[in-house]
Amino acid sequence: MKNLWSDADAEAMVAAYAKKGVSRDLALRVYTTRLLGGEPRLVLHGGGNTSCKMKVKDLVGDEWDALCVKGSGWDMAVIEPAGLPAVKLKPLLKARALDRLSDEDMVALQRANLIDPSSPNPSVETLLHAFLPHKFVDHTHSTAILSIVDQEDSRALCDKIFGAKLGFVPYVMPGFALAKAAADVFDKDPTVEGLILDKHGIFTFGDDARQSYERMIRAVSTAEDYVAKNGKPVARAAAATAPLAKPGEIAPILRGAVAFDRGEGRYDRFVVDFRSTDRIRDFLSYRDLNRIAETGVSTPDLVIRIKNKPLVLDPPAAGDLASYSRHVRERVAAFVAAYKAYFAEHDGSGGVKRVMLDPMPRLALVPGLGFFGFGRTLKDARIACDVAEMWVEAAAGAEAIGRFRPVSMADLFDIEYWSLEQAKLAGAKPKPLSGQVALITGGAGAIGAATAKLFAANGAHVVVADLDRGKAQEVAKAAGNGAIAVACDVTDPVSIRAAFDAAVATFGGLDIVVSNAGAAYEGAIGEIDDALLRKSFEINFFAHQQVAQNAVRLFRLQQTGGALLFNTSKQAVNPGANFGAYGLPKAATLFLSRQYALEYGKIGVRSNAVNADRIRSGILTEEMIKSRSAARGVSEKDYMSGNLLGREVTAEHVAEAFLHHALAERTTGDVTTVDGGNIAAALR
Ligand SMILES: [Zn+2]
Repeated sequence: MKNLWSDADAEAMVAAYAKKGVSRDLALRVYTTRLLGGEPRLVLHGGGNTSCKMKVKDLVGDEWDALCVKGSGWDMAVIEPAGLPAVKLKPLLKARALDRLSDEDMVALQRANLIDPSSPNPSVETLLHAFLPHKFVDHTHSTAILSIVDQEDSRALCDKIFGAKLGFVPYVMPGFALAKAAADVFDKDPTVEGLILDKHGIFTFGDDARQSYERMIRAVSTAEDYVAKNGKPVARAAAATAPLAKPGEIAPILRGAVAFDRGEGRYDRFVVDFRSTDRIRDFLSYRDLNRIAETGVSTPDLVIRIKNKPLVLDPPAAGDLASYSRHVRERVAAFVAAYKAYFAEHDGSGGVKRVMLDPMPRLALVPGLGFFGFGRTLKDARIACDVAEMWVEAAAGAEAIGRFRPVSMADLFDIEYWSLEQAKLAGAKPKPLSGQVALITGGAGAIGAATAKLFAANGAHVVVADLDRGKAQEVAKAAGNGAIAVACDVTDPVSIRAAFDAAVATFGGLDIVVSNAGAAYEGAIGEIDDALLRKSFEINFFAHQQVAQNAVRLFRLQQTGGALLFNTSKQAVNPGANFGAYGLPKAATLFLSRQYALEYGKIGVRSNAVNADRIRSGILTEEMIKSRSAARGVSEKDYMSGNLLGREVTAEHVAEAFLHHALAERTTGDVTTVDGGNIAAALR
């Protein structure tokens, strides 16, 4: 592993932080923490931490010996001094004399001794950092180290590879007990440069930032060299010769199969991220893939990202999605049964009864293709894939030099159900549409943009589809929550299909469609050009049908229901003069909504329409408002608020109606009116 230390970079950082009143030690601590954090083979998504012991002044100027240690929630790759909260060292050291310290008390002790009480929680490995005497302490879950410690005879192997340079700490769950065990190992031989934590990772330490960092890089490089020199070829399974289905074809099947069924037509859905590299596909071709996967994850804290083990599936034969769907559902059911058995077997350990987390896998391995990560958000799905790549690194290395034997299922259970690990995931309370994917056509228009924003704020991942890609990008950016933009001409079936494919490629599937794109055409119905009427039918009716068909195609693969939402118009029920070209197809679309409600209710698909009127938009432009209000001899304001409530109706009000329909579990075949009240247009 490359040593990235640079005197120039280090001094530049010291100088930059000095201007902000940050000490040299803390600046260098930030510098090497970032070096470690930027390398996924060392540190990934919370799997590592660093510290520095130094004098710190409190608000009244008293000086304390303190441990500045990584705070939870901070990413080491981009850490700032605020991410290394200072804890008074003396009380931490005093804790070593205790026989026992519960996790809750350990957290309380750490928090109670923060110099700044508004700091984030110090790392769960804080005491281990405190008990080691060195000024700088670095900890990583290096994949090369894991290849060596995830072996049956890991102690002997470590002795052989590292000699007396590194101490060896047998596996103990992180927390007070591990801190004490590690400190005891260190005390037996204080000449060591670091400690190997069996089945977990490595600590190195030193008198200065550079020494501690370079010891880490040296130890990891030694491990890498050992694996490279001693690795033997791993046996492969026979490669599939038949053509395989594409990732996008099976993603909705997987997504539907892992959605957690809460009964009554409710699902906790996941977003899917797909990952495939030569290294991943090579690993998935291992003959013993099943055995390796069954063994578990490479370092304990991965359990909160990808559960205790991944789901292994067969390669998908092209052209037979129906039987692959059955296969996936069988395997997921077996995974769930095994997870429940794992929970039943280990629940009650330490005298504690727990509540089972959802039993769904977070990672599916598909030989020939790659792997699929599942998360309640796209970020979580990506994290699942990120850590899975490092699991591959560690497991492949372990298999090359021996046999992958990571931490036991019993120990994994203790980590998965450890309150301090669950706390890492807390804070992200699910929103009403969490885990759901919504595609909005005409997404860059006024109503589309308002709907995108509201859906994203309610937790949905949104696909903003619009003829104007640039504007769609602006809307997606403003909506946030990972929204994406796609160019889409709803009068072109190929373009519609591409938009749905983009939704699948990014999020794995789709749950809600807001079929919103439309265009207004005018003309006396007895004289109107036939071509114009047909053009209006293309965008105001056939486009809705194409969009709905594509949605149903995905809903059928997922088998978790879905919501179809149509933007119809007051014109659909209450025609306006010279507006037949617009009203006729909209009336057909309103009927279309009911037809879908009728035919797909049995698979849990709800179909509803929103009937809006007089909204400032691309269809009712400022110029049109001016001319129509003038024609009626009323002010623009009176024209826009010419309804029973006497208030203007906005795109945001329409978005609220779409959200209502997305959430209304027992409503289908409905039309919701958003027009401020218009008795002539009221539905019977
Ligand atoms: Zn660790």
